[in-house]
Amino acid sequence: MLKILLTIAIIAAIYFFLIKKPKVSQKRQERAEEEKRKPKKDEDIMVACEKCDTFVSSHEAIIVSGKYYCCKSCAGVK
Ligand SMILES: [Zn+2]
Repeated sequence: MLKILLTIAIIAAIYFFLIKKPKVSQKRQERAEEEKRKPKKDEDIMVACEKCDTFVSSHEAIIVSGKYYCCKSCAGVK
């Protein structure tokens, strides 16, 4: 019975050690900070118009039902 308890204690200790590893949390923090530094929403990417294949920046593009268009006439919006 004591052996079982000892085994459980050792496993728990290993688990605790692995979870509490400072390197892992540090890496996670670095990654989180990295993601904070480069905002994805404001990222200016070039997208091709669905109709005429003209490249426009995502800021200027007109998005209709998930597709990018260069201008209102391509998007079919009046
Ligand atoms: Zn177009």
